[in-house]
Parts: sequence; structure tokens; C-alpha cells
Amino acid sequence: MIFKCKNCGGNVVYSPEHKQMHCPYCDSQESQERAMEECDKSFCPNCGGEITVEEHTSALQCKYCDHYIILNDRVEGEYLPKKIIPFKLSKEMVKKSLRERFKKATFAPTDFLSEVRLNSMVGEYVPFFMYDYDVNCTYNAEGIKVRTWTTGDVQHTETSYYDVIRDMNINYRDIPVDASVKMPDNVMDLLEPYNYGEFVEFKPEYMSGFTAEKYNMESDTVEFRASDKMAASASSILRSSVNGYSRLNERNKNFSIRNKVNNYNLLPTWKYLYTYNDKLYPFYVNGQTGKIVGSVPVSKTKVLAYGATLFVLLNVILIAGSYIITSLGII
Ligand SMILES: [Zn+2]
Ligand SMILES: [Zn+2]
Repeated sequence: MIFKCKNCGGNVVYSPEHKQMHCPYCDSQESQERAMEECDKSFCPNCGGEITVEEHTSALQCKYCDHYIILNDRVEGEYLPKKIIPFKLSKEMVKKSLRERFKKATFAPTDFLSEVRLNSMVGEYVPFFMYDYDVNCTYNAEGIKVRTWTTGDVQHTETSYYDVIRDMNINYRDIPVDASVKMPDNVMDLLEPYNYGEFVEFKPEYMSGFTAEKYNMESDTVEFRASDKMAASASSILRSSVNGYSRLNERNKNFSIRNKVNNYNLLPTWKYLYTYNDKLYPFYVNGQTGKIVGSVPVSKTKVLAYGATLFVLLNVILIAGSYIITSLGII
């Protein structure tokens, strides 16, 4: 499907600045209507230009007419997301924050923050599974307390043994795990947290103006990442509830999941794939919070030029220094 403007026929997109649908052609708001429902995945339904739809793509931009195409069968049925966090940051906002953040990166290549390169940035919705767990945690350990004191020449030691028992229910909500093969797991972990209070019910309108993928890893395959996060957090809560013992001999620790819910949602990211000397330097920006993940490449030319400048400066200072001494000598 494509969202077309009722006034002028242009492609209406979701605008993070306006926080609603916006037609960049006639500047109208909320003037969209769904058009061109079906797409055969080989040609743009608007201009007929050839398009390349990758295996998991659910939204893309036609490189000939710039219209954003959303593939119906990849946002419906089993692929219908429950919730979405709409892009809060536009490309212009992200360009500004990247420039601000890296303005002091002296050795970054000259075109790293150029308009042309930054314009290649793409906004993409990443598929996520989010898990809710209601967990019962039980814990049993032998707690030992040792008390020593001295009476006259005699040192006393008292050792007390305790049966430490904990039984608590913890409810976890929205533990996120990305369900995209191509998205590096460590990057997604670093891009978090998102503010999940800003989730809204999914509507395909939010995808217009951006690219997207449907989920391409099964929930059963990725769930261990969520359950590992849950277990680490529950262990830490248990540990912090047991205090005051000299020693603990753990006998038993058990997490039993009483209730589990899993939802398929979409989260916004900006992707800047910068290449330098044939090497890829990917940058990812959280499309909601603006958090940036990526390493700036170093330009050897700039480092060498900087070294040469330092050398020249040093010489100038030395020459100036000797001049002052000479002058003083004359006086
Ligand atoms: Zn219009
Ligand atoms: Zn087109």
C-alpha cells in the first residue's frame, strides 16, 4: 500500500516533527488515504520502476519516485505488530545531533558529517518480541553468623546457623529482544532503553516515510535472551534481600514462570552506514531517545597533517625562544 494525499496525490508520510501524517508536497496534515493496495514486489505500484524487495522487508522507498511502499502481506495476519513506537526524531534532528556529538572528533574523515553522506541515513523499524513474565522465585540457603569476643586472655567464638528462605513473586513487563537476523544483538542492547510508555497501537500509517522488516527470527529461538535478562535481574533482587550473614551456603534457587506473554512490536532506529577505505562503520541512533551507537573512523591523512603542524609549531616556538634569549643577550 501507499498513502496518497487527497489534495495533491503526493506521498503522505508520518512526520516526527508534526507528530502526525504530513504531505511534504502540499504541506497538508492528515490528508492521506490508502491507495495501491497490492504490490507484486517487483515493480513500484506508483511509477512502475523496478524495486528490490529483500526477503524480510516490509516497507521500502522506491528509488525512482521516492514513494514509500508498505507490503500488505508483511504487516498483516501473523506479521501484524501489536504496538509501535513511532519515530520521534526526524532525519534532520538526527543529523543535527550527530554533528553536535562529533564536532570535536578532530581526526574523523572530512566527509563523515557531510550533507551528502548524512542524507544516506535510513529510518528503519526493527522487529522486536517483548516478553512479560510473572515469576515465582524461591531461595534456600544456610546462613552463618560468626561472633567473636575476648574475656581476659580467652577469645570466644560463637557460630550461629540460620535457615534462610525467600519466596517472592516478581512481575516483569516488556523485556525486549530483537527478532532481526541482520541487526547485531549487541547494538540493539546498547540502543536500549526505549521509553515503552510511548507505545501506541500499530497502524501502517506510522511506517510511511521509513523502511521496515517483519520479524525473521522465531520467538522460541530468541526468547532465551529475555529469560536470561529476567533470571539475572531476579537473582540480583534475591541476593540484595539477604543481608547480615558472614557466609551463605546456597542450597536451592528456583525461578518458576507462572505466566508468560509475548508481543510482536516495532521500534524505531536510524541507520547511518558510513564507509571509509572500503571498511564499513555502521552508526545506529535510537529513533526515540537519540542515543548513538558507533565508532568514528580515524583519518590517517588528518593525523599526519596534525603531526606536521605540531612539528612546525614547536620549531616556531624554539626559534622564538632563541630569539628572545639572543635579544636579552644583546641588552
Ligand atoms: Zn498533498
Ligand atoms: Zn516508484
